[in-house]
Amino acid sequence: MANKSFQEIIDFLKNYDGEEVRIMEVCGTHTAAISENGIPSMLSPKISLISGPGCPVCVTVTAVIDKLVELSLRPDTIVLTFGDLIRVKGTEKSLADAKAEGANVRMVYSPTETVTLAKEDPDHTYVFAAIGFETTTPVYAMVLKEAIEQDIHNLKLLTSLKTMPEVIRWVVNNGGGIDGFIAPGHVAAITGSDVFKELSDELGIPFVVSGFEGKQLLMTIYALVLMKGKKGIKNLYKDVVLPKGNIKAKEIVDKYFCPSDASWRGMGKIKGSGMCLKPEYSSFDAGSVGLDEDHMPPGCSCAKVLVGKVKPYECPLFGKSCTPDNAHGACMVSTEGSCYNYFVSGRR
Ligand code: SF4
Repeated sequence: MANKSFQEIIDFLKNYDGEEVRIMEVCGTHTAAISENGIPSMLSPKISLISGPGCPVCVTVTAVIDKLVELSLRPDTIVLTFGDLIRVKGTEKSLADAKAEGANVRMVYSPTETVTLAKEDPDHTYVFAAIGFETTTPVYAMVLKEAIEQDIHNLKLLTSLKTMPEVIRWVVNNGGGIDGFIAPGHVAAITGSDVFKELSDELGIPFVVSGFEGKQLLMTIYALVLMKGKKGIKNLYKDVVLPKGNIKAKEIVDKYFCPSDASWRGMGKIKGSGMCLKPEYSSFDAGSVGLDEDHMPPGCSCAKVLVGKVKPYECPLFGKSCTPDNAHGACMVSTEGSCYNYFVSGRR
């Protein structure tokens, strides 16, 4: 790669005529960056980009949404959530639907807000929807640390926390047909690139750690095309991702959380693919155990979209009855969702 100019890399990717290469971007932020930069239109038809299960809201099963809705309808409880989760439908309704009916749901924009809200209102229980991957788990750990230090016990977490390595194994072992992975940059900043080196050695598939700029993504795709059929890791995001990751973030996570099985939309329960509160902090748990059920909206192909079995536009509802303004499934709700990104960018 070092001896190729960027223009030569662009030309190579456009004119590539070798064996087909299927590359999965696992991270929802990469899905958004690939769409925004128009990268698919810069690739030869022999290079396919496939969006994977890296949008945290999209992989959250309906049982978690249902539990949050149930909690929000209790007069003494207030549910706090970040971003898009509020619009994702559970079995019957979303948190936004519940809020419209008078339920106690509030959006928060910073984790410290959650501690302040609970402290100032000791008569209510505040439940923070703790959804996400390795990237956001340290944030929830810091919230818990702050609550404990300030002796606040009316702030609880409803956790649905996932970890990447196990779901990548699942995709590979369940017929994903993937030749290479764009390793998730934000997750790798916490876990370190060594985690993906171990995965590559085990699965015999190359990984390239990438940032989010168009140029770096193109260089990542180029590297993965050259690495097809070989194991190996490249880190093109060295300013941010170290081999061992963020030690301090990992320490605070290990203090409060431990590995657990987790249920994923479209994949079911995957052993060891989540994080839950350690038993000694169970009094801060709002009822996260056993939330495994998942009900797809009728006709929604999210389960297949999430694992790259179908492209979003292959769903019969895509762009017809399902659009960002009238989303059927979580993949069209979230700005990191595959369906949303394919729709707004016209990606094919
Ligand atoms: S287009 Fe809509 S209905 Fe189809 S898979 Fe995506 S979110 Fe589900």
